[in-house]
Amino acid sequence: MPLRPGQRDIGEVEGKPFLIKRNGKYGIKVRLCAGMLNSNQLEALKEITENYGIKELHLTVRQEVLIPKIKEEYLEDALKKLETVGLKGGSAGGRVRNIVACAGGRYKNCVHDTVGIAKQLDEKYGEMELPGAIKIGISGCGYPCNRPQFEDIGLIGRAKPIVDEEKCDGCGFCVELCLMKAVKLDEDKKPVINREKCKMCGRCIQNCPKFAISPEIKGFTVTLGGKGTWPAFKGDTLAEMVKDEHIVPLIGKIIDYFKKNAQPGEGRLRPLVKRIGIEKLKEELIIE
Ligand code: SF4
Ligand code: SF4
Repeated sequence: MPLRPGQRDIGEVEGKPFLIKRNGKYGIKVRLCAGMLNSNQLEALKEITENYGIKELHLTVRQEVLIPKIKEEYLEDALKKLETVGLKGGSAGGRVRNIVACAGGRYKNCVHDTVGIAKQLDEKYGEMELPGAIKIGISGCGYPCNRPQFEDIGLIGRAKPIVDEEKCDGCGFCVELCLMKAVKLDEDKKPVINREKCKMCGRCIQNCPKFAISPEIKGFTVTLGGKGTWPAFKGDTLAEMVKDEHIVPLIGKIIDYFKKNAQPGEGRLRPLVKRIGIEKLKEELIIE
């Protein structure tokens, strides 16, 4: 449709919701599962914005990259260049959006391979078309810096520490690093963990210099129906201590359930969770 005088040329491109059109130029939203990209991909993004854009990239809050202001005549070349390094536009519209994860046990204090789980989920469900958007966020510990509880599906890692007194030399490092002040040394210089205070973050497990602390049990708290809008809503807890190997099938069940049961206008999980109720969903979705 021709523009009225003074009207701004803004909108979505049919079939490609990851392109954001503004005044004749295009922003490309690029999926980066768990915010990971390799050096070739980084180089390609640099070339695209230098050759076709404005020498700027925006890292979005959900770990995508937005390449702004590509002229129409360069758009196809920019998309092809992305493809050559295994990148794609996406994470927009009614589908499984870019999967967000903290660095988890790869580089940090927690015991979960959050990036590995994000990649498994992305391989199986990434960009799957749905009646609405499903956003998934994964945090490896109970200090959820990437706010998974405000995603449609949130995963928060937990690990219950247990001390092997044979290996422990009583250095007291676990007392120092526990942010919850849940660890004390007894008169024999052996750590005692206060279970009321312990948030099962796993820092003591990952950092004991003598490898004297290990996870007695570990898994994820799974929340459903969070929403990072205004106002923001925390999801309801669907399950506790879901084992790593059960995460992919459980998320599959949730996605299937949403596909089959979402009613018109339920563009996110939250309305469905509120309509059906978390207790009923526990009965229908939990895999033991
Ligand atoms: S950090 Fe490890 S070795 Fe040191 S007191 Fe704690 S459990 Fe024992
Ligand atoms: S797992 Fe528990 S005891 Fe260990 S650092 Fe975290 S809160 Fe403290």
